[in-house]
Amino acid sequence: MDFELTQEQKEIQRASREFTQREFDKEKIFEWEETHAFPREIWKKACQSGFIGIHFPKEYGGRGAGVFENVLIVEEFCRGDSGVGVALSLADFSSEVVLRFGTSEQKKKYLIPIAKGEFISAGAYTEPDHGSDLTMMLTTALKQGDCFVINGAKTFTTNGAIADFFIVLCQTNPYAKPSYRGQSTFLVEKETKGFTATELGEKLGIRMTSTAQLSFNDVKVPLTHLLGEEGKGFYQVLEFFDESRIEIAAQALGIAQGAFDRALDYAKKRMQFGKRLVDFQMTQHKLADMATKVETVRLLTYKAAWNYDLKRLDPKLTSMAKMFAGKTAVEVTDEAVQILGGYGYLSEYEVERFYRDAKITEIYEGTKEIQKNTIASALIGKLK
Ligand SMILES: Cc1cc2nc3c(=O)[nH]c(=O)nc-3n(C[C@H](O)[C@H](O)[C@H](O)COP(=O)(O)OP(=O)(O)OC[C@H]3O[C@@H](n4cnc5c(N)ncnc54)[C@H](O)[C@@H]3O)c2cc1C
Repeated sequence: MDFELTQEQKEIQRASREFTQREFDKEKIFEWEETHAFPREIWKKACQSGFIGIHFPKEYGGRGAGVFENVLIVEEFCRGDSGVGVALSLADFSSEVVLRFGTSEQKKKYLIPIAKGEFISAGAYTEPDHGSDLTMMLTTALKQGDCFVINGAKTFTTNGAIADFFIVLCQTNPYAKPSYRGQSTFLVEKETKGFTATELGEKLGIRMTSTAQLSFNDVKVPLTHLLGEEGKGFYQVLEFFDESRIEIAAQALGIAQGAFDRALDYAKKRMQFGKRLVDFQMTQHKLADMATKVETVRLLTYKAAWNYDLKRLDPKLTSMAKMFAGKTAVEVTDEAVQILGGYGYLSEYEVERFYRDAKITEIYEGTKEIQKNTIASALIGKLK
């Protein structure tokens, strides 16, 4: 067993850390947070530097790296700033469905522009009435001549109002038994007639991302916009989650580490009762607990990524990493706010944003309860 990063991985980690130190401008971050704007400037530079889509093969604009390298970048970006980090890491959301199941033409058309910083992608799975349970979709895509006609609604779509194209899970056979065997995924471009995206209201955190409701009203897409095989959409999405959940664990890891860094730094400087906060044993123990939790998440997340890159699918391990990382991010950011006291409650001191941004990692890409179900069913056998 070797816990050492390779030279190339160390280089990617160093480059992404330096990128955040150089490009994450605090004033602009406050402005984007305030106006709920996607950090477009930094995103363009991140693409130019080869960070976005690093895990795409070279022929599709990437560097042929693995999920592990992507995890290192996401961790550093979210450590640098939770809001910007999450927004950047989700800019290519769901592109892995195209990567894995798309034709060579589809990959060229959609992946290369993502890596170049010309396209933002989105994955639309959740519906108003179907969140955790994706086995039945009310959004239908029915074949009519040389196209599929999509009708229905999706909700909570990240990048909904800013994406150039969407991967949409639809019911192509409403009579299939079980229903999930009648699902397929499609590529839908933002300008397609009958398609609209409406931003949802204010949200607790990740305010630099768009979260939208999508509406499909007789949206016609050519047959060539079907991804992979008809009837396999549900399986494709589950396979995608095996990878994307590791990335969410990396977001949580970076957010927790970033909050810890700020709390440690503050505790070394803040004087009370004639001592620095770090001189109180209570603070020392809090910091020790936080650092231990963060390191545990790092080990689990890195192992899940390493395992994935070896093509050993293990949804149990992925769910363990995602569940534990989310829980830890919420706990560690909470403690960071506590260590900063009243200042922790102010936006200026940043940890309140990390605290708000952490919570989503326990909800999207499958809630912590759903992760627990996945872990339990792997341990016990299929749950009823
Ligand atoms: C900011 C944001 C961004 C998002 N981005 C995307 C996106 O890009 N694409 C997308 O498709 N979706 C996205 N989502 C949706 C997200 O994945 C869902 O919100 C999540 O899967 C839960 O679905 P739900 O909200 O319908 O809750 P529900 O499924 O209604 O669950 C409500 C509660 O019941 C629990 N529960 C449900 N079923 C079970 C069960 N079997 N056992 C135990 N507990 C259970 C859940 O854990 C949860 O606590 C996003 C959500 C948010 C808030």
